Amino acid sequence: MISEEEALAKVTKSVAALPRVRVPLVEACDRFAASDITATIALPRFDNSAMDGYAVVASACREGKGQRVIGEQPAGLDRGLRIQSGEAVRLFTGAPIPAGADAVVMQEDVRVEGSEIFVTTTVEPGEFIRRRGCDLAEGQKIVEAGERLRPQTLALLASQGVAEIEIGGIPRVAIISTGDELIPPGKPPDPGQIFESNSILMRVLVEKCGAKIASVVHCPDDHGAIESAFRAALDCDALIVLGGVSVGARDLVKPALNAVGAETDLWRVAVKPGKPFLFGRAGRCAIFGLPGNPVSAFVTFLLFVRPALLRLMGARDDELRLPCVNATLATELENNGDRPHYVRGHLGDGVFTPVGRQESHALFGLSRANALLRVAAGTTVRGGEAVPVIPLDQAAI
Ligand code: AMP
Ligand code: MG
Repeated sequence: MISEEEALAKVTKSVAALPRVRVPLVEACDRFAASDITATIALPRFDNSAMDGYAVVASACREGKGQRVIGEQPAGLDRGLRIQSGEAVRLFTGAPIPAGADAVVMQEDVRVEGSEIFVTTTVEPGEFIRRRGCDLAEGQKIVEAGERLRPQTLALLASQGVAEIEIGGIPRVAIISTGDELIPPGKPPDPGQIFESNSILMRVLVEKCGAKIASVVHCPDDHGAIESAFRAALDCDALIVLGGVSVGARDLVKPALNAVGAETDLWRVAVKPGKPFLFGRAGRCAIFGLPGNPVSAFVTFLLFVRPALLRLMGARDDELRLPCVNATLATELENNGDRPHYVRGHLGDGVFTPVGRQESHALFGLSRANALLRVAAGTTVRGGEAVPVIPLDQAAI
């Protein structure tokens, strides 16, 4: 059994970024930039007005002195106007500033009399002018290779005139669930049968990472069936196998992996829940064997599969880490065991409260949880203590 840190290092080291792809901006959200991008256009691109109003020469705007309006400058068309002291140009928000002007007066602060305006407030040079390049200069780095592309980053790229971007490749993921006792939702169960629920969990988690589902297959606990499902899945970038990775006679994943020539790089990790986690490879396919208990599958997905998928997508190191926020623990938690325990809980108003049963089969508790707290092996955390927790609504992406 190895530590979770060692397991994570092994997993992330043995997967590499897929070849980059070029996509329209709208498809790039929450994916990872394939290379650094620098600004080719300053923001703002030219000096422009922050208000609907008048371009003026500030020093000429004395009380009671009229400013002659010599023209109008709309947004979207530079008429190349020029003003002298004592003149003004009618402007709209975003309109280029006429040459010679050094301030804009809001239309609310002027009185119009015929072809003149009278400024009813003091005017400072530079007022209401958005200067070229004050937000962003040409040549400035705007995106780093491996950075997650947020909606606001995509907006910045669009403002640079960019319509497409190169991102890390999008992994194709196969999901295989195993177990004689499992039937798909929708059919009435016979005595002893239960509904298969892990594949929907994995499917959605994989897609939230930005990867694509190539196939979802269920196999009975039958060596031949599992082996042929593996063979069909190995052209994918990743394969997630659910259940059958423990040590029971019905745990057929390891022998089936051997039969298809896959290498098992690690098996069994010191983590609760999730000890039987397995990682291996067959050619370019990364194989994750997740325990069948739903909470174990969920936790090991977040700890090991998510970072691997993000790495395949070209994410840089800091993007692989699970998010973390500080919270106050509501009640004492004791971990007498020899593995760190990921406790499911509810985070609200900065307080983490454990929810539901803390066993690996307890799916209802997991469904009510929006945060995980890692309690290290052999430690007790007291109620009222500050603890770092993993907010699940952010982590499950
Ligand atoms: P296993 O890891 O195959 O030994 O399964 C551990 C427990 O998880 C058993 O109680 C299984 O019935 C249950 N289980 C395994 N796979 C699934 C699944 N896909 N959906 C729901 N429960 C499962
Ligand atoms: Mg099983």
